[in-house]
Amino acid sequence: MSTTQPLAIRMHPHDNVAIIANDGGLPAGTVMPEGPAQGITLRDKVPQGHKVALTDIAAGAAVLRYNVPVGFAREAIAAGSWVHERLLDIPPARELQGLPMATQPAPAWEPLEGYTFEGYVNADGSVGTRNLLAITTTVQCVAGVLKVAVERIERELLPLYPNVDGVVGLEHTYGCGVAIDAPGAEIPIRTLRNISLNPNFGGEVMVVSLGCEKLQPARLLPPGSFPIHDARLADEGPDLVCLQDEAHVGFMSMIDDIVLRARPHLERLNARRRQTVPASALVVGVQCGGSDAFSGVTANPAVGYMADLIVRAGGTVMFSENTEVRDAVEQLTSRAATPQVAQDIVRELGWYDQYLDRGRVDRTANTTPGNKAGGLSNIAEKAMGSIIKSGSGAIASVLAPGEKLRADQKGLVFAATPASDFICGTLQLAAGMNVHVFTTGRGTPYGLQACPVVKVATRSDLARRWHDLMDFNAGQIADGEMTIEQAGWALFEQLLAVAGGRKTWAEQWKLHNALVLFNPAPIT
Ligand code: CA
Repeated sequence: MSTTQPLAIRMHPHDNVAIIANDGGLPAGTVMPEGPAQGITLRDKVPQGHKVALTDIAAGAAVLRYNVPVGFAREAIAAGSWVHERLLDIPPARELQGLPMATQPAPAWEPLEGYTFEGYVNADGSVGTRNLLAITTTVQCVAGVLKVAVERIERELLPLYPNVDGVVGLEHTYGCGVAIDAPGAEIPIRTLRNISLNPNFGGEVMVVSLGCEKLQPARLLPPGSFPIHDARLADEGPDLVCLQDEAHVGFMSMIDDIVLRARPHLERLNARRRQTVPASALVVGVQCGGSDAFSGVTANPAVGYMADLIVRAGGTVMFSENTEVRDAVEQLTSRAATPQVAQDIVRELGWYDQYLDRGRVDRTANTTPGNKAGGLSNIAEKAMGSIIKSGSGAIASVLAPGEKLRADQKGLVFAATPASDFICGTLQLAAGMNVHVFTTGRGTPYGLQACPVVKVATRSDLARRWHDLMDFNAGQIADGEMTIEQAGWALFEQLLAVAGGRKTWAEQWKLHNALVLFNPAPIT
């Protein structure tokens, strides 16, 4: 908040708490001049983003935010008190039986026409927002060699192919020393396979393998799973460099081989040009990280509005983060387009409950110290603010972790992934994401090499301090400078520009996080 006027924000008229919007919070004794807390005197100092009681709340009574219980009062809470996490018991997780299945009619939306961006059209009909050469790997053992080869390609070859945006070595920690036939092992394997087919890589598939690893190239990319530009390769499988091949004598011969094999791929990529495509070609992954209480007030509602616009334009929006939607499961199942989609949601969240149970934790393990310092008392409160990112559309389909979207899977998609920023981003890349939208309240410099990441700040204070890391300031909503609708439209327009080649801050600084595979199977 830039103004000095004390300000509290309530999300729903039934809520008995509001959050304090002012930078630095407000001192005890402050009399709230207007809004939902009008006339209330603060009994405690309330930090920014934290909750204040709007009424007297009896011991055991529900504390309502977003018109849902985000906790139950451990003791009587007087109006004007700071409602912090130590005063709340978390509501139990909703059972996965007896849920409302596809009960909510889809909103009657006018289609949104005439919005376009400049993209790279691929042979399979998908559209890239960047023109990158990806080099896939079967195993971590080859990572060091690949890194040296990529540096040489960047230095010696990229200047010759100016239409290519970069070279991405798809390094990871999987491939050997793992129980590769165990249940769950198909998740990291199909994730790696599907990432190599991401639309931003133009259908070029090149693999570096060691030779003796468990994840053999034919298992990673079985014949028929990848596009082939060179008929000669049809019988031989993907374009493969195997380091243990006897033809390699010495380290430099491995590097030379990788660099030589990269040339035809770079030549084909370099011949491509951007062309005007409809906004329906957007495949947007949304997620949050480093959340605070403003995430669910400013950035996530703006992203939700943007998500509705993309769906209306015929595009695809994926939302994810199992532990952050688990407490809102009945909202998801009721919004499912069909009973089958609702069943798929229950299947994925049920599987994830069991996965957490095996590790003797539950969804409450999600919240971080930073979430709590930022005013989010528990996962129930975080979930209500997180799910708003999905907008208000019907959920058209569900993806299991590592699965790739089919061409007919448009609209709003629940891609069931862990909430971990890197794992969620990695799985959304595998699903076919071509632009990523990431909201943050505490701040994170997160980025991905394979796909532009538009970072949205929840507060103006963060947007000012991290002025060259945050791409959009949704804090303007709390400042009264923008409505949620205006912010949603502005984000939509910015996304089209980024999809068409405008660089994000993370791209300008070349900031990116490592791919992190979700491997629920044992390590050997
Ligand atoms: Ca996340």
